[in-house]
Amino acid sequence: MASRANHLVLLGCGLLCVAAFLYAQMTGRSTAQAQVYQGPTSQAAIPSPAAASNFPIASDARLAGDVKQTRFILDLDKAVQFRTFALADPYRVVVDLPQVSFQLPTGVGVAGRGLVKAFRYGLIMPGGSRIVFDLTGPARIAKSYVLEAANGQPPRLVLEFEEVDRTAFVQSLAPESRPELRPAIAEANAAVARVDAPAAPPSPPDKRPVIVIDPGHGGVDNGTQAGGGDIMEKNLVLGFGLALRDRIEKSGKYRVVMTRTDDTFIPLGDRVKVARSESAALFVSIHADALKRGEGDAQGATIYTLSDKASDSEAERLADAENKSDAIGGVNLTDEPTEVADILIDLVQRETKTFSNRFARMLMGEMKNTVRMHKHPLKSAGFRVLKAPDVPSVLVELGYVSNKGDLEHLVSENWRNRTVGSMAQAIDAFLAKRLATAGPGK
Ligand SMILES: [Zn+2]
Repeated sequence: MASRANHLVLLGCGLLCVAAFLYAQMTGRSTAQAQVYQGPTSQAAIPSPAAASNFPIASDARLAGDVKQTRFILDLDKAVQFRTFALADPYRVVVDLPQVSFQLPTGVGVAGRGLVKAFRYGLIMPGGSRIVFDLTGPARIAKSYVLEAANGQPPRLVLEFEEVDRTAFVQSLAPESRPELRPAIAEANAAVARVDAPAAPPSPPDKRPVIVIDPGHGGVDNGTQAGGGDIMEKNLVLGFGLALRDRIEKSGKYRVVMTRTDDTFIPLGDRVKVARSESAALFVSIHADALKRGEGDAQGATIYTLSDKASDSEAERLADAENKSDAIGGVNLTDEPTEVADILIDLVQRETKTFSNRFARMLMGEMKNTVRMHKHPLKSAGFRVLKAPDVPSVLVELGYVSNKGDLEHLVSENWRNRTVGSMAQAIDAFLAKRLATAGPGK
C-alpha cells in the first residue's frame, strides 16, 4: 500500500508538471488536437500535429484470460508512470497516464473478454490520458506494472484483473484510490489562465454578451460513432462548434467561450459551471445522435430543452445516453453535490425555461429553411448539461450518424457552413430581442 501511495503522489505531480510544461512551451491550442478527426472539412486553424510526437505512443492493446483472471496489455514505445483506481455502480477501473498518443487499431476495446466488458481511452486533460475499463462484475487489480523493452518486445503496461465479491470491491475504494480529477483540472485550467493572461496593460472589461458553445463529449468519451469507429461524435461536434464560434465572432457583437477547443474530456457539471461563471446570455450544446441497429432509422436535426419529464421515449433514451458521459469518462458521480431545491432558484429557473424555449423555437425557425430537421424537431428531457438555473440553454442534435444521409451532411463542409450560418442568425435574432427588452448589462 505504501508503494502505491508513493506512486500516486509521484504521478499526481508528474501529470501537473507535464500539463504546466505543455502550456509553458506552447501558445494557443494544445497538441491534443493532433488526435482530432478533421475529416474532409479540415480547418486551416488547426496547428500541425508534429509536436505530438514527443508523447509516448501506444500502438496496440489486448486482453487475455477468463472471468476469474483477465490480463490487459498495452504496447508502448517508452515506459510510463500510471495510477489506477476503481469506481462502483457501474463497476469500472480507471488508469490515469501522462498524455499518450493512442495509435491503436480501430475498434479495439469495443469487445471485451473475461472480467472486462469493454474499454475506452483518450485525453482526459492537457497532459493526461485515461483508460476506462467497464467490468462485467466486481474485480480488483491484483497486479499492475510496466515491463521495460526486452527480447524484442516493446515496453508494456500490464494490468491483472482478479474477480472479487462486492464487499471486497467496495473496500478497495480506499480514499487514496479516489479520483482526484477535479483539483487536477482546476490546476490545468489555472495554468492555461496564467499563460493566456495578457502580460501588459489590462484592457477594459469586455461587456459584450457571452455565448457558451459546448461541443459534447471529448477525450475518453467518444460519443456516438460511425464507420466502425472512424467517425466519432466528439470530433464532428468539435469541428462544428469551432466553426460556429468563428461565424458568431465575425459580427464582433458577442464574446464566445468554448467549453473545450480540443480533444479533452470535460465533466458535465464543469460545462454548466462555465456557463454560470461567465454569466452567459446563452448556452448551446452540440451533439450528434445515433440509433442502434434495429431501432429504426430516424433522421434530421433536433433541438432539446430541459424538462423534468421527457417529451417522449426517444428524448428520454437520448438524455440517459448523454447523461452517461461522466460515467464513461470515469468521473466519480458520488462526488456530485445534490440538487439545490430552493424557491429562488425555482423562480429564476422558470424564467430561464421560458427563454430557452423561445430560443429553441427561433432556432428551429431558422434551421428548417436550410437543414433537414427531425419529424418532431422540438423536444425536452432531463439533460444534466442544460441545468444552469440562470442561463438559457439548448442542446442541438445535428443529426444521426447512424443515418447515411445525415452522416454525409455531418462530414460535409458545405452543409456545416449552411447550418452554422442559420444557427448564428437565430442566436443573433434571439439576443438582439432579449437585450432590447432587458436593457444594457443583460
Ligand atoms: Zn452526444
